[in-house]
Amino acid sequence: MCGIVGYIGTRQAYPIVIKGLQRLEYRGYDSAGVALHRQNSVDIFKRKGKVSDLLAFAEPEDKTATLGMGHTRWATHGVPDDINAHPHYSNSGRFAIIHNGIIENYAPLKATLERKGYTFTSQTDTEVLVNFIEEVQKQTGANLAEAVRVALTEVVGAYAIVVLDTTDENRLVAARKGSPLVVGIGVNNDEFFLASDATPIVEYTKNVVYINDFEIVELDRKGNMIIKTIDNELKTPFIQQIELEIEAIEKGGYDHYMIKEIHEQPKTLIDATRGRLNAVEGWVRLGGLNEHRNRILNNNGRVIIVACGTSWHSALIGEYLIEELVRIPVEVEYASEFRYRNPIVGEHDVVIALSQSGETADTLAALELAKQRGALTYGICNVVGSSIARMTHAGSYIHAGPEIGVASTKAFTGQVAVLTLMALDLAHHKGTISESEYQRIITEFGNIPDKIRKVLANDDKIKYIASELKDAPNALYLGRGLNFPVALEGALKLKEISYIHAEGYPAAEMKH
Ligand code: GLU
Repeated sequence: MCGIVGYIGTRQAYPIVIKGLQRLEYRGYDSAGVALHRQNSVDIFKRKGKVSDLLAFAEPEDKTATLGMGHTRWATHGVPDDINAHPHYSNSGRFAIIHNGIIENYAPLKATLERKGYTFTSQTDTEVLVNFIEEVQKQTGANLAEAVRVALTEVVGAYAIVVLDTTDENRLVAARKGSPLVVGIGVNNDEFFLASDATPIVEYTKNVVYINDFEIVELDRKGNMIIKTIDNELKTPFIQQIELEIEAIEKGGYDHYMIKEIHEQPKTLIDATRGRLNAVEGWVRLGGLNEHRNRILNNNGRVIIVACGTSWHSALIGEYLIEELVRIPVEVEYASEFRYRNPIVGEHDVVIALSQSGETADTLAALELAKQRGALTYGICNVVGSSIARMTHAGSYIHAGPEIGVASTKAFTGQVAVLTLMALDLAHHKGTISESEYQRIITEFGNIPDKIRKVLANDDKIKYIASELKDAPNALYLGRGLNFPVALEGALKLKEISYIHAEGYPAAEMKH
């Protein structure tokens, strides 16, 4: 997840882009960057950190540009730093891009481009895409919109992109699949605004067009908007009026971030499995395991998962799954307890650290201890480039996007998703799962986002149950097997959010 903004029209683009980025900062705050079109050149300013860091670092001397775009990043490929910050130029410097999403097949595309002599300065999937667009443009001689369209027919993954051409200050091209993109139409029909959501747009216009998946939009200075599908079919823009207040739009129309993040889960689960699970072809692969799989499987050791809070509950689910499918002993430890005793851990063991932020102090200290004793360490976190991601030997991100609600929701399901992928990958390599069971779980996994969507569509029933329970002084959550950790997590959520005393309990223990 990250925020993108674009402007083409008659006003100065810079203040519009900066203000827009500030409004979108909740979508990502690893780095910020702006590109301004100045006739035959494009100036890019970018910096690690928040929009305020970018402003403190550099402001353009000449702010007269009337075409510009900006990005606030939530990294997925490459650490958050100045170089990986968007916008990115193509090799010749002709095209510049901002991108929200994940290009799943960036590695083969990159390899092909490298063979043709392209070089890359960043670690991002995004820089691969802009160079691929450049290559298509060179091969076909097409205009920018057409080059983007043709390039995207080869792209697997999710994106909302905005691309500009240094040699053409009269046009902006954008496209979408799986990541949001809105176009605002200026009141005098002589300017366009582009953004991830309508918050950067509403103060200028209420007329918007929501771009659909597989659509490419070309906006020019004369007020023309051309929308084509990736199959080159012309579409008539469907103009809507937005009524929502800025705050409501930021929260996706929900009352608060927690409920928004709960509803994001169908998407975040798809992002967590993007490029890692293919339900149609029937495979799972978790890249982070590649170099260490043999050591994990053939070392006669244990897996120890260290975590705190909600992550500790997903760790318990991981324990059940790995023991069941991979037949390796797993222990789950509170990171805080692990670090303050003298645990038996050594070079035969694998210590997995689970943490949404990747910065949980107790978990970091537990990892440090495990490393000193020679264990292989593996991080599963959400924040790219976080301390846990840097200090572990290997790891996997959960790609859930920023979690703003204090009570973790989508990060929990993201962690469970990655642990499931891990168990499936290891079990398949070890041969402890039958092919039919492997295929069955993969197929079911692929169905989960839709099932979550259906559950969440029952909002009214959920509200009714909540109204029945809200005055209870105590609550017990019961569950068996995998649902026992889920019961613990449910109880934790209720305590955190309502201050009602709650406990999770193994179902059968009730009778003892
Ligand atoms: N994949 C891109 C990157 O890592 C965009 C990230 C995003 O959408 O947050 O830079």
